[in-house]
Amino acid sequence: MIVGIDLGTTNSLVAWVNREGKPEIVINERGSRLTPSVVQFKNDQEVIVGEMARNQALLQADRTVSSIKRYMGSDFEVDISGRQYSPVEISALIIRKLIQYAEKVLNEKVEAAVVTVPAYFNDNQRQATFMAGELAGIKIVKLLNEPTAAALAYASELANREHILVLDIGGGTFDITLMEYEGGVCRVLCTGGSSSLGGLDFDQRLGEHICTTFEENNGVNLQLDLVAMQQVQINAEKSKLDLSTVKESSILIPYISISSNGPLHLKQVIQREQFNYLCSHLLQEIEDLIRHTLVRAEVDREWVDVVVFAGGSSRMPGFREKVEQIFPGVEIRTEINPDEVVALGAALEAAMLAGQVNYVELHDVTSHTLGIEDNQGEFVPLIAANTTYPVLDSKLFTTVEDQQEEVIIHILQRDEMGDSEGDDHTISLGKFHLSGIRKAGVGEANIDVSFEIDKNGILHVSAMDIDTGIQNQVEIDDLAYLSGSHVLARRGRNLTVL
Ligand code: AMP
Repeated sequence: MIVGIDLGTTNSLVAWVNREGKPEIVINERGSRLTPSVVQFKNDQEVIVGEMARNQALLQADRTVSSIKRYMGSDFEVDISGRQYSPVEISALIIRKLIQYAEKVLNEKVEAAVVTVPAYFNDNQRQATFMAGELAGIKIVKLLNEPTAAALAYASELANREHILVLDIGGGTFDITLMEYEGGVCRVLCTGGSSSLGGLDFDQRLGEHICTTFEENNGVNLQLDLVAMQQVQINAEKSKLDLSTVKESSILIPYISISSNGPLHLKQVIQREQFNYLCSHLLQEIEDLIRHTLVRAEVDREWVDVVVFAGGSSRMPGFREKVEQIFPGVEIRTEINPDEVVALGAALEAAMLAGQVNYVELHDVTSHTLGIEDNQGEFVPLIAANTTYPVLDSKLFTTVEDQQEEVIIHILQRDEMGDSEGDDHTISLGKFHLSGIRKAGVGEANIDVSFEIDKNGILHVSAMDIDTGIQNQVEIDDLAYLSGSHVLARRGRNLTVL
């Protein structure tokens, strides 16, 4: 059996496709469909994953890990009683738990999974997710971009030819994906958004307003009191959730502070209109990001036939109104639970790979431009952002010195998805060297550098001296090691485009 896994920052889900070809969420041991992505190390032997770990997080804060997805692909380690755990190890524990739930419910062994990742995940983050699956004892047959999974969950109901905009807004991130669905083929055209905009920002804005109002009425600044602020933030989120279904929400926090006249209670009423007004800059940012993505994809708003919503924050009426304003009259699909739509899409992809169902073929695009550094320190692109993958591309380079025997390939990734226009974030993915190239005059050697992105969005780079046939290649797990090599780093800029 192959299942679909949505390995989320806050919650994770596992889903499968039943005999009727319909995707279903696996219910966990507590009867819930969502399993909090929280891991608690009770002691050296016992590890708890999910709701219980989250509920006890405050009691055992130093033994509890949450939001590990934010650190995937980084060197970050969690210290639990002197033992270091990598994000891969923590994620593996979550995956293993989800697989256990699935095996129990389905009463059969789960050997493999399709796991979803944010579209903006870079190679290191994808490779880390892949390794987490391996460590959990399953094979990851495909890493699927989350918005692609969301569109896939709706694919069986889409008309024959549609242009789809997927808006996935969770707790801390906002992903925008433009897709084309034609004749059973779903192709991602462009991705955009922000990795620092989500429901938390709305909670914070409301929390600030609550504190300001309290200070105006009582002369006490709650922001100086950490415990009081925790209560304010919890209640701000609750109030935000209320305002998605009702127009007015009341907040009551007894004994939040004390004055010379005795204890102070926080009592406030928030109107939906007021909440939308308070968060208008966030809604404006959402609009700007959507428009920026349309511009990058070189399409106008009329191009969009249907909008698909994913992520808990898409339930906010202000978000929906904003989208309706940008795309007047367009069809907005919200009937699949936005918390579950990604996992359901992953299950469908898993069933397609297993040959169980057969209706949509998927093509994804890269969200970053990938290339190498030349002798001037300039970025030379090999694969542009928004290129459909799997893809293989190569370019010829040459030496910059007479009798040069070695070149260093410094692999770079440029983030084209910056939060504002004109942002240029270039990061190093690693370096490797090609030695033993034919000794020749400057500019005479022919060095072919190839970039291949496989079906999981993972990059493989190889370099070959065409004259001698000598080659070297690298995958991302090697890159992490090589990028730490200072010897190589000193000699990075020694080749140029031919
Ligand atoms: P996700 O990362 O997709 O699980 O989304 C989590 C975010 O969605 C959190 O910020 C929640 O506060 C928010 N959220 C969940 N349900 C609602 C709702 N009914 N209205 C507004 N925000 C919601």
